[in-house]
Amino acid sequence: MVRKFFITLLLALLSLSCAEVPFTQRKALRLVSDQQLLSMSFQEYREVLKRSNLSKDPQKVESLRGVGQRISRAAEEFLRRAGLQHKIANYKWEFSLIEDPKVVNAWCMPGGKVAVYTGILRYTRDEKGLAVVLGHEIAHAILEHGNERMSQGLLIQMGGIALSAALANRPQETRNLFNQVYGVTASLGLVLPYSRIQEEEADRVGLILMAMGGYDPSSAIEFWERMKKEEGPKTPEFLSTHPLPETRMAYIRAYIPEAMKYFRPHVN
Ligand SMILES: [Zn+2]
Repeated sequence: MVRKFFITLLLALLSLSCAEVPFTQRKALRLVSDQQLLSMSFQEYREVLKRSNLSKDPQKVESLRGVGQRISRAAEEFLRRAGLQHKIANYKWEFSLIEDPKVVNAWCMPGGKVAVYTGILRYTRDEKGLAVVLGHEIAHAILEHGNERMSQGLLIQMGGIALSAALANRPQETRNLFNQVYGVTASLGLVLPYSRIQEEEADRVGLILMAMGGYDPSSAIEFWERMKKEEGPKTPEFLSTHPLPETRMAYIRAYIPEAMKYFRPHVN
């Protein structure tokens, strides 16, 4: 009887702490409020910038900001069309280029805090390539994948305690978890990879964001072809934390026609 009660209670708690992923409507675990994650994100982002060497190349910095602005506007419009604009109402978009040719990586924290490492510019090559990476990372953010992974991390590593309790009682551990979730510690090999499902969702929505931002989504295939050549013992972070290029190129091809419906080429 008691056991049955606990099972019912557990099921009730789990259903309460689930939320729908925007666009794909998949149910995802949610133990953390977006507000809590946002304030943690703003703080951690400042920390990362403080200890990083920011690029002083004005052309590259400008190019990142330009592409970032187009993709973030597309993200806002994408959510507005779905009636979900409130999800990013408190976002403060920021795009930083970190000078580190050895790091082939990029990430977007909640709140629109983006970092791109100069190592990935070898593969993005131009603004279309940059749009592939930003589209993908911003899609992870607006689909709230970080919240889902942070919730899973709190459940598995800390027994399901609330984020505020975790921060108060185990601050360093909680910050480490946050940085693992968002890929900040990629170069140390401590990243919790996104799940296959999250990756496919981010690729699918990333293509739409690119298209809405004015970039031909089929450039994604060219970018992944270039990344594919790098597979091997020294696989770059951006590749090792993501599905195999063959697998992803197959489904990216299948999603391009959907994204093309949103394509608005830009003139300038
Ligand atoms: Zn990803």
